[in-house]
Amino acid sequence: KKQVYHFGTQKTDGDRTMKNLLGGKGANLAEMSNLGIPVPPGFTITTQVCTTYNEIGRDGVIQLLKEEVEAAVAGIEHIMETTFGDNKNPLLLSVRSGARVSMPGMMDTVLNLGLNDDSILGLVARTKNERFAWDSYRRFVQMYGSVVLGMKPETKEDEDPFEEIIDRLKAKRHIKLDTQFTVQDLQDLVYDFKDAVKKSTGHDFPSDPWEQLWGAVIAVFNSWNGDRAVVYRKLNGYPADWGTAVNVQAMVFGNMGENSGTGVCFTRDAATGMNEFNGEYLINAQGEDVVAGVRTPQQITQIGSRRWAELAQIEETDRLNNYPSLEELMPTMYKELYGYQEKLERHYHDMQDMEFTIQNGKLWILQTRNGKRTGAAMVKIAMDLLKEGEITEKEALLQIEANKLDELLHPIFDTKALKRVNIIAQGLPASPGAATGQIVFFADEAAKYKNAILVRIETSPEDLEGMHVAKGILTARGGMTSHAAVVARGMGKCCVSGAGALKINYKKRTMTVGDHVYQEGDWISLNGSKGHIIEGKVATMQPSLSGEFGELMELSNKYATMQVRTNADSPKDAKIARDFGAQGIGLTRTEHMFFEIDRIRAMREMILADTVKGRKLALEELLPMQRQDFEGIFEAMQGYPVTVRLLDPPLHEFVPHQLATQKELAEDLHISLAAVKNKVAELQEFNPMLGHRGCRLGITYPEITEMQTRAIMEAALNLKSKGIETKPEIMVPLVGAVAEFESQAKLIRDTAETVFAENADTVEFTVGTMIEVPRAALMADAIAEKADFFSFGTNDLTQMTFGYSRDDAGKFLSVYLENGILKDDPFEVLDREGVGQLVDLGTKRGRSAKPNLKVGICGEHGGEPSSVIFCHDTGMDYVSCSPFRVPIARIAAAQAAI
Ligand code: ADP
Ligand code: MG
Ligand code: MG
Repeated sequence: KKQVYHFGTQKTDGDRTMKNLLGGKGANLAEMSNLGIPVPPGFTITTQVCTTYNEIGRDGVIQLLKEEVEAAVAGIEHIMETTFGDNKNPLLLSVRSGARVSMPGMMDTVLNLGLNDDSILGLVARTKNERFAWDSYRRFVQMYGSVVLGMKPETKEDEDPFEEIIDRLKAKRHIKLDTQFTVQDLQDLVYDFKDAVKKSTGHDFPSDPWEQLWGAVIAVFNSWNGDRAVVYRKLNGYPADWGTAVNVQAMVFGNMGENSGTGVCFTRDAATGMNEFNGEYLINAQGEDVVAGVRTPQQITQIGSRRWAELAQIEETDRLNNYPSLEELMPTMYKELYGYQEKLERHYHDMQDMEFTIQNGKLWILQTRNGKRTGAAMVKIAMDLLKEGEITEKEALLQIEANKLDELLHPIFDTKALKRVNIIAQGLPASPGAATGQIVFFADEAAKYKNAILVRIETSPEDLEGMHVAKGILTARGGMTSHAAVVARGMGKCCVSGAGALKINYKKRTMTVGDHVYQEGDWISLNGSKGHIIEGKVATMQPSLSGEFGELMELSNKYATMQVRTNADSPKDAKIARDFGAQGIGLTRTEHMFFEIDRIRAMREMILADTVKGRKLALEELLPMQRQDFEGIFEAMQGYPVTVRLLDPPLHEFVPHQLATQKELAEDLHISLAAVKNKVAELQEFNPMLGHRGCRLGITYPEITEMQTRAIMEAALNLKSKGIETKPEIMVPLVGAVAEFESQAKLIRDTAETVFAENADTVEFTVGTMIEVPRAALMADAIAEKADFFSFGTNDLTQMTFGYSRDDAGKFLSVYLENGILKDDPFEVLDREGVGQLVDLGTKRGRSAKPNLKVGICGEHGGEPSSVIFCHDTGMDYVSCSPFRVPIARIAAAQAAI
């Protein structure tokens, strides 16, 4: 089997469709080669080899690859007219990871591979550029040392062992920048680095180029299972068995002098989605220098450069002298790059994120991929591409990552409050949004505060989990393409980067601005859209949604065949959901209304009553309140259907469990404390979720069902008299036996008749059931004969099908997920394989008895995109989810139908 695929100007085996095999980077390097874009030649070792490596180990896999890799390296030597490890004219290689999805910075890369004390002389002789050659050697020993030989800081407060050596030399030589090192300095660094390696690992730094190459290849394979990559996979739900490809490629050098450089660019603005080419670069630099924030990167376009200078308060002449844009400094390079970005975006029909290097006035493209972007940018870019005719409506919808819409709905700073704030420093607006929180300086401490702002000199891939936990990210170094900025945009998290005025001291845990010292735990706020760092807390408000958002939502209606309803218990939530386009309510949990302070008393009175008469008296108090609730909700839904679920939870949830409140209740109801205590003890259950709840309550206390039905019908009649249309759907919870449903349905219909007779008027309504006990799914045909609709309550159905208590599963589910016993948390992502069978079967059996039976879902899954797609596939009429997930479900429903 072929394990090595070539790419480059002369011979390319792969293309963009082969991401699973070649990884995203490899597939796109091949695609660019096919397009005639200048890519340094190289080859890709497939992701399958990574999986094989995990099975057979290092020696086996080297054996397996040896012949193909040696031939492929010979191919690069031939094209580059150099020889790997040669001491006259050495070929240098880069060894790059690349999984099928982009995981920026999560895995490892080694540059300048193939250098040793002999070949360095060849490099010097061939390039006649001593400084460049030694700078490359220094970088190689440093990268190889950390990636392959595991030279890492000992504790988080410690500096990287190599950076420490660099800093010491800089101090000794009184210089600030890497570019100020002399050849002698660089030589010293190489030997100091090697000494450090020897001291720490006990082995000499490997000088044999082939040993170096295999070491790097294996290190890249290992990085697939490194901590960072594992965390990233977990956060994004990518499986461990994908593996990473390895790309081995001829080096091109951005560190050859003033006519060389390296950079990163985007075809559109990843923060806002504006159609504006942008990016950053550094002269005389290599690899990750731009992303790592070692020096202040410069802007690619003139307009971007001016904007940047304004934020950084740099005068125009200073800007032109010290930070000119690529457009101004190297106009021909810029023009060529501009052409490629245009070509690539048109080719991929999506925003591209590209890496490039200029070696002595020759431009090379090193990577392209669909760029990570904020939720707002995602919507704008998709709708813009549609308008530009680049993509079709269906493609625009498919380009939307439904879950990312969530970001658009998060609060922003209150515009009024912003006028009064104290802006303490200005950074770059790296990722928009508003964040208020307490300062932490270490990623693994972000969880210490409920709202943390992670403040770092710069972030690195190790910080991923903490960045995820933090409300916002602030860095003192690094540009718009720095690690912090890119990752934050991908997460949709507010980020201000490169705030040079901040002095951060990790050891003392302080951030100093001017003469003001901020400690860990101090409150600050970040305005990610402006780059402002603000002292203290700032009030927030709901954002108004852009025109493109509305257009996108409308587009989703055109394709979705399934409706989206909401779960709402109050007029306020109902209204929010309507504004997001909900076409009805799929679940109103009536019990939520009972927890309000004035109602809980009447509810408790009802529960404590020992007689039917006593209960009815208490229920009479509740009736007008329930009726009012329903009027509000029905009115907010403007004639859309509203499913009301009858009382569901076990009664013990409503009684007080603390002595003080029990005493209060006893006094209030003029009964003894003992009576209250007795009742509470009586209601205690071993297994409340399988206990006296759902329709079992309505059957044992029919007066509850009567009162609720009456409240619903009277509310509907009242609105009808005001000319407002309603469509009540009464839903019986937790049915497992047909007779349970029949008895409740009869009670509901009889009560409705009574109310209609009293009022000499009627409203239309339906009576249906939740399918949430496995037995109900099995008996669905018999139940459907009596019921008007089904709604799958997949929270309980999951709980009962797995036999996992929803409230206790936390203890073991995390272990199950870590060990791969389960792929997803079944309470988050509907378990298609198992629970899904019951949903499918229940729907089919139900419809076999009643072909036009209305079927929906009202569990949390109704707002989870992959579950929504499943619901579509089973032929449901609607999904129902919490108000803020309605837009997400609408997009998922459209995607399912495409
Ligand atoms: P990541 O996936 O973390 O972005 P890459 O494999 O893209 O890692 O490598 C990181 C950086 O190393 C690139 O952005 C590029 O600047 C540099 N690099 C990679 N390969 C080469 C090469 N063949 N020549 C010059 N620089 C390279
Ligand atoms: Mg890259
Ligand atoms: Mg339930």
